Amino acid sequence: TTFDAMGIKDDLLRGIYQYGFEKPSAIQQRAVMPIIKGRDVIAQAQSGTGKTSMIALTVCQMLDTSNREYVPYFVVRVQALILSPTRELATQTEKVILAIGDFINIQAHACVGGKSVGEDIRKLENGVHVVSGTPGRVCDMIKRRTLRTRAIKMLVLDESDEMLSRGFKDQIYDVYRYLPPDLQVVLISATLPHEILEMTTKFMTDPVKILV
Ligand code: AMP
Repeated sequence: TTFDAMGIKDDLLRGIYQYGFEKPSAIQQRAVMPIIKGRDVIAQAQSGTGKTSMIALTVCQMLDTSNREYVPYFVVRVQALILSPTRELATQTEKVILAIGDFINIQAHACVGGKSVGEDIRKLENGVHVVSGTPGRVCDMIKRRTLRTRAIKMLVLDESDEMLSRGFKDQIYDVYRYLPPDLQVVLISATLPHEILEMTTKFMTDPVKILV
């Protein structure tokens, strides 16, 4: 398949081609369609397979950037949350989202440890569509009620096995507890040990499994 045949929004296709991609990588060929149809997806994939771009592309496709809520002023709500094991990966994912989403007027924020909490609060209160972060800082922002979870409809767990080996299991479960019940979950992991399968059973409904 081609990106054109995937039913991707025109303004997003422009962003993908501008970024320099011509055709989908193997994981993109197999995972993009089920995700944009709303299915929960488990993708067993390593880095370097195009998984970051796959996340960016599907998150951008699922967002409604025209949807602002009047409360009694207009605000942008967080609609997608991506959790990654490291600050570098979370920041890289945010960058790819901003690049691919260049024509869809997207606001994203990397919510990672080691950066100023004040800056997180300012960005989140101004309103963003997407948060890409590490579990510790994201959990903290949710508990402060700075990161509002009510409008989140998609959770992406990137490099899940790596997040668990870095000791983020409790924080991931904590974050999950704050998210709305009709949530779409995409889980990416290089390996699928018992603890990951446990998470898929807890968080996911009838997931599509993809091995790249
Ligand atoms: P990722 O696993 O998303 O970090 O991607 C690994 C590398 O492949 C990055 O340099 C991407 O920019 C590149 N890449 C990802 N998807 C594609 C694609 N569909 N066509 C060409 N390059 C790609």
